[in-house]
Amino acid sequence: MRRRPLKKVGEILLERGLINLDQLTQGLMHQKKSGASLGSSLIHLGLIDYVTLEKVLAEELDKAQSRKIGEILLESGRLTLEQLNETLRLQQESGRLLGEILVEKEMLSPQQLFDALSTQFDVKVVEPEQMLFKKDLVDLLTRTEAASFKAVPLCMAGPHLVVAFHEPFNNRIVKEVEAKVNHPVEPAYITSENFKIALDKAYPDPKRYVKPAENRPGTIQREAHKSEARKLVDLILGQALLEGASFVHLEPVQEGLSVRLRIDGALQRLTPVPPALQEEVVDTLKTMAHLKVEERHVIQNGYFTHRAVNKEAAVKLSTFPVLVGFDKQREKMTIKLLNRDASLERLEDLGFYSAVQQQYENLLLQKQGIVLISGPMDSGMTTTLYASLRILGDNNLSIATIEKNIDTFLDGVAQTQVDSARGYSFGKGLHSVLMDDADVVMVSEIEDDETAALIFQAALNGRRILSGVHASDATSIYSLLREMGVEPLTLGMGLSGVLSQKLVRRICVECREAYHPSSELLESLRLRPNTTFFRGRGCQKCAFSGYQGRIGLFELFVPDESLRNGIATGLSSDELRRLALQKGLHTLRMDGFRKALEGITTLEQVLAVSGRE
Ligand SMILES: [Zn+2]
Repeated sequence: MRRRPLKKVGEILLERGLINLDQLTQGLMHQKKSGASLGSSLIHLGLIDYVTLEKVLAEELDKAQSRKIGEILLESGRLTLEQLNETLRLQQESGRLLGEILVEKEMLSPQQLFDALSTQFDVKVVEPEQMLFKKDLVDLLTRTEAASFKAVPLCMAGPHLVVAFHEPFNNRIVKEVEAKVNHPVEPAYITSENFKIALDKAYPDPKRYVKPAENRPGTIQREAHKSEARKLVDLILGQALLEGASFVHLEPVQEGLSVRLRIDGALQRLTPVPPALQEEVVDTLKTMAHLKVEERHVIQNGYFTHRAVNKEAAVKLSTFPVLVGFDKQREKMTIKLLNRDASLERLEDLGFYSAVQQQYENLLLQKQGIVLISGPMDSGMTTTLYASLRILGDNNLSIATIEKNIDTFLDGVAQTQVDSARGYSFGKGLHSVLMDDADVVMVSEIEDDETAALIFQAALNGRRILSGVHASDATSIYSLLREMGVEPLTLGMGLSGVLSQKLVRRICVECREAYHPSSELLESLRLRPNTTFFRGRGCQKCAFSGYQGRIGLFELFVPDESLRNGIATGLSSDELRRLALQKGLHTLRMDGFRKALEGITTLEQVLAVSGRE
């Protein structure tokens, strides 16, 4: 963020007559020799005392801040010069912040003050109502420190810790917080009213809620707890959806119920649910998932749909009984968010460019052979498989599936689920499905050699098969399948094409900005100097991450006649890739670069998921 240039310390002290020119020269000479700051040099020489210096600097900072806010409001026509002068006078008398006085005198609404601050100062404005705090970050400051600095840590934005300050332009406070948290800080602004709310939320007082057990709550209190619990549940699920979490873990601990989100593979702790609300939160979730609320001694699983911030998720809730201490029976909960990007139902929503999509649809509609979708775990494979089934269904083809977990039910598709406990494996399922005469068979994963052998056999007998497999890129599938015992000749004949995909995060459109990466980086990527890429600055809409939602990167490999011959004669994956590149394979990395140049995702995201080529 932009920092206001400050007047030099020497200048200020001279102006105020606290030192003379001669003393300043002495100070500057000492500074040069010792390498200390001018301020401490002057203190060292006994020319000024620490308390005076600090007071003067603090006053200057406040003045600079008020002047700046005043100027902005004047320029934007929100205040007349008369109003501004009047307010500045009041401010000098009371020693309070200009913005506060303006709001109090109703010359400005809090919203207008926000707008002025955020647009002109380039500073983020925080409203705590809709947010949960990250425990690990919040704990970088104690509650006492947070209260005295009027600052609450919010989240990480790249290398910076975003901290909400009531006085974001007070460099002294920002510096002190920076030293305390031992991290570069990016200040955001919070009103004093909101700061109080944020402080209570970030550092919850476990005694704030009276424990029902100790107090035999009346109906009214129980109802109040219920609605508080419901609000908290909505907040937790809302935050999980907003940040694209795949799991939420709720576990009973000493200070209540710990809340952790799994985001992009890593666990992030939120502030815990206070003990007094713990049972209500558990019961609320169980009710939502249609589970038996009174039953606390067995594992239960249930489903519900949750909608928040224009996103929708199918939620799977699992409860596990656990013992806390010697005798307290509590429940641990795991919440799985399925189908997180509910809007991603069609191929174009997934991030296919139309040329690739056309080629992929042609591949899908071929009369026979296997089409594989490959990617690491959590790469959106299931979404692509379902989107592909919709296309096949739209073309009036009959479809049967064998799936590990049925995520979504599709109209007119015969779906079956593997149940290994009951001996219904992929192999068994395939045997029975292949006896049917479905036009297309979808096998959600090639899990073992038997499945691999069966689908290739079916493909050579004229079946159309769609399946998923975990592999890093389109061409490495071939060596993987050979390791599973599929003969090169069978591979060359049976496999029609491979779609390889990975997910990257989408830049938040609310706070997207253009920038030029360093010339070294661009050079190492063989890109022209000054190439423009994009990133999210971070805003409340995206929980200051700079990202919202995800999008796929794709590589579609459809071997032609000569490549198929090569595969049949046992070409290695590396050799195959080299030949495919010569023939103009559009790689996943190229797809990523295009999306980064168009501002859909960041260069970092693309580099993180795609290897060198
Ligand atoms: Zn944003």
